[in-house]
Amino acid sequence: MTDSFTLVAGWILDGTGGPIRRNVLLRVEGGVIVSLEPVGGGVPPQGDLLDLTDCTLLPPLVDSHVHLSMSGSGDPEVRRKQLCAPYGGVRHVIEKHKNQHLAHGVLAVRDGGDHGSFALKYKRESLPSGNVPLLLRCAGRAWHAPGRYGTLIGRPPPQGVSLSQAVARGEEGIDHVKMVQSGLNSLKDFGKETPPQFGLEDLRGAVEAAKRLGLRTMVHANGRTPVRLAIEAGCDSVEHGFFMGRDNLKRMADKGIVWVPTAVTMKGYSEMLDPRSLEAEVARRTLEDQLEQIRMGVEEGVTIALGTDSGSLGVHHGGAVLEELGLLIHGGFPLEKAIQCATTTGAQLLDLEEGFGCIQTKNPARFLVVRGNPSLLPGSLRFPEVCFRGEWWKMGEGSG
Ligand SMILES: [Zn+2]
Repeated sequence: MTDSFTLVAGWILDGTGGPIRRNVLLRVEGGVIVSLEPVGGGVPPQGDLLDLTDCTLLPPLVDSHVHLSMSGSGDPEVRRKQLCAPYGGVRHVIEKHKNQHLAHGVLAVRDGGDHGSFALKYKRESLPSGNVPLLLRCAGRAWHAPGRYGTLIGRPPPQGVSLSQAVARGEEGIDHVKMVQSGLNSLKDFGKETPPQFGLEDLRGAVEAAKRLGLRTMVHANGRTPVRLAIEAGCDSVEHGFFMGRDNLKRMADKGIVWVPTAVTMKGYSEMLDPRSLEAEVARRTLEDQLEQIRMGVEEGVTIALGTDSGSLGVHHGGAVLEELGLLIHGGFPLEKAIQCATTTGAQLLDLEEGFGCIQTKNPARFLVVRGNPSLLPGSLRFPEVCFRGEWWKMGEGSG
């Protein structure tokens, strides 16, 4: 197969959130999409025609919140080992997770940090070879307040140094700054809010320091007050945002701050814990509450990007993207808009190259092909065929 060809697609979801296009003739020249026309629209097919009339095309997926060095395994021993192993013991785990993403058509991820900055190290080590088809955006290590939640994914500022001073010092190679502004959701006490980790001035100073370094900020925040402070500080995205309430959704819509709801984390807990336990019951209720918030977010016009928090208990790299897509649809997104959250919105949040996550003319031919019509999504996304800049490849979960 050359990097120039014409295909007929049964259905195209172009990633913009616009309506599904039916029976489209798509022409690629030199790895670039040069035309997209309805079949019979006047552009005669040239050469062999690739028949994908029984297939759906959609852009590559973007997961806006992962932890590549951790797995979703329910085995406590596996989790414990991953959390204290040196880089040499984790590298193959990151490699496996990278392949799981590719196998599900996820071609870009934003890493929210790990205690050893291992995902960033992996990225920097792999870059010279140039053969990393998964685009990685890494936080390195997150920032959390001393004595508060966050040691698994980061560290506190050194003693006597404020958050804003610590962020201003910069860190080589990071793509964005991750800050932890609340605790985790309680699995015993439904909806219990934890106090904010940082004060407004310190958080705002940190966001501004990051901006001066040309970096965006992602803030882990659950509960009304921690989320409100993250919004007032001007962060780029609120991560999780459980129990934030409608007023915060309105504020986010007003300020154009992106929300990454990671609802699948609660699905993960509810499925991995003893179904009769209090914790599983609280996780189920928390998931329902988050789906209700997603419905409110849709009503208020909040920009939502799909992120899974893969690496959390029961949340598996790659596969969790399909589950979160299903939850966004369950929460009120039409399919086209849910795909937009997982493609163009994510690509913009990660600051990927112009046009990433969107099937349109003049863009590199970079899309997924899945069997069947769009009603089979998101399930049909398991092991899609991938066209990358005009080249075709298919990834198995164990390959690479
Ligand atoms: Zn996370």
